[in-house]
Amino acid sequence: MATVELDSINKVYDNGFHAIHDLDLEIQDKEFLVLVGPSGCGKSTALRMIAGLESITGGEMKIGEKVVNDVEPKDRDIAMVFQNYALYPHMSVYDNIGFALKLAKVPKEEIDQRVRKAAEILELTANLDRKPGQLSGGQRQRVAMGRAIVRQPAAFLMDEPLSNLDAKLRVQMRAEIAALQRELGVTTVYVTHDQIEAMTMGDRVAVLKDGYLQQVDTPQNLYDRP
Ligand code: ADP
Ligand code: ADP
Repeated sequence: MATVELDSINKVYDNGFHAIHDLDLEIQDKEFLVLVGPSGCGKSTALRMIAGLESITGGEMKIGEKVVNDVEPKDRDIAMVFQNYALYPHMSVYDNIGFALKLAKVPKEEIDQRVRKAAEILELTANLDRKPGQLSGGQRQRVAMGRAIVRQPAAFLMDEPLSNLDAKLRVQMRAEIAALQRELGVTTVYVTHDQIEAMTMGDRVAVLKDGYLQQVDTPQNLYDRP
C-alpha cells in the first residue's frame, strides 16, 4: 500500500523562515492529490520534503509503512517529474527513459522490456531513437513521465510539470496525465498554482496558503462550498 503520510510536518529554512506549519496530510493508495496555492505558499517545499530533497525540521513523514525523515531520495521509492523535464539532451529517448534503471544495475533485457512498455503506454515507440531536441514539447513531457513510470515507484511527485507548455497543449496533457495516473494506479502528489488544473485533475485538492493547509477535499466539495 503506497500511502504518503505527513504528520505535523514543519519546515524552517536555515535563514529562519518558517515555510511549512504543522502540515497534516494523508495521501491514500492510488490517490491523485493536487497541492495548490499561489507562488511562495510552500508547495515546492512540501513536495521536496516528500522527495527527500529538502530536510524536514519537524514532524514525521511516512511512505508506505516506512518513516522516511532521514531516508535518502534514492531509497524512498518515489519518482519525481520536474517542470523543466531535466532530460539529457545528448541521449536518445530510449536511454533517457532507461537511465535510472541502468544506474540501478537492472539487467539489460529487463530494462529493454520496461522501457518499451513505458514508451508504448506514452505513445513514444516511434521516437525511441530521437534526441529530446527533436521532439515536440508534449513529447518531451511524455519522456519525462516515462522516466518516472519505468521505475515503478510507490509514488509519483510532480512539480508544475505543465507550466512550460502552451495553453492548448497544457489542456491536452492534463487529461493525458490524469488518465495515465488512473491507468497505472500510482499514488500521486501533483503541485500546481493553477486552480483549474487542480480542480480538473485531482481526486482531492489540498489548498496551501502562507505555509498553512487551508482545506483538503474533493473538487466537487470545494466547488460546492468554497
Ligand atoms: P511555492 O512552491 O509555493 O512557490 P516554495 O516552497 O518555493 O513555494 O517557497 C515557499 C517559501 O519559502 C517562499 O517564501 C520562499 O521564498 C521560501 N524559500 C524557499 N526556499 C528557501 C530557502 N532555501 N531558504 C529560505 N527560504 C526559502
Ligand atoms: P519555485 O517557486 O518554482 O519552486 P523558486 O524560484 O521559488 O522556485 O526557487 C528556486 C530555488 O531557489 C529553489 O531551490 C528554492 O529553494 C530557492 N529559494 C527560493 N526562495 C529562496 C529564498 N528566499 N532564499 C533562499 N533560497 C530560495
